[in-house]
Amino acid sequence: MESTNNSTKIKKCAGKDNLQRLNYLYQACNAIATENETNHLASVMYSNLAVAISKKAVQRMDIEVKRTICKGCRSLLLAGITCKVRIKKKRSIWTCTKCHTAKVFPVQCPDYVPWNLQEESVVETLQYK
Ligand SMILES: [Zn+2]
Repeated sequence: MESTNNSTKIKKCAGKDNLQRLNYLYQACNAIATENETNHLASVMYSNLAVAISKKAVQRMDIEVKRTICKGCRSLLLAGITCKVRIKKKRSIWTCTKCHTAKVFPVQCPDYVPWNLQEESVVETLQYK
């Protein structure tokens, strides 16, 4: 007799194909933005597409990825290349050179760990297959 135990099945990652698309689009956006300044519109198109996919699929982008996309024009924020970074009063201010939209982040303490990297934030570990 064949036994089927559902509890031993490996749970599939929800939205794996969307995560792969987001990863690919962000890498393409980054490669185009760092390659040449004249390809700015292509880079913006890829990052805009990545943001649209994450909204449509209700798939949150990683905080490090999300912080490098301008909210005003969706261009990639690369320190010293496409944005200015200033530190004032324990805050870092990232200003886009294209649309002058500013993002303000608190300057992190050396022992600060963001919430998504803490062990308490992980509800369930999924295995990719
Ligand atoms: Zn911008």
